[in-house]
Amino acid sequence: MRRTVFACSEEVRLRERYYSLILTYREMVTLLDNASSYGDFVETYGRAEKVRLLFDSARAEFLNHVQEHGCEVTLEAIRAGGIAEVRTR
Ligand SMILES: [Zn+2]
Repeated sequence: MRRTVFACSEEVRLRERYYSLILTYREMVTLLDNASSYGDFVETYGRAEKVRLLFDSARAEFLNHVQEHGCEVTLEAIRAGGIAEVRTR
């Protein structure tokens, strides 16, 4: 069933946190790529691993919420720049 409603605020909060951590993790991968020395790499790897763990838990929290609450923003709505259309069960 599809209907037009305002997005679930908790879904929005969790999704924004998840996407933000994806971007942070991508930046960490670039930093790893550009490590100038082994020491630099090891230090950056430690920070990247912490971000990866945060990203993993944010992803699980987001997916669990969507599954339990039945709220999910459609890709079409995201592409259109709005989040008014939400698929519900
Ligand atoms: Zn929700």
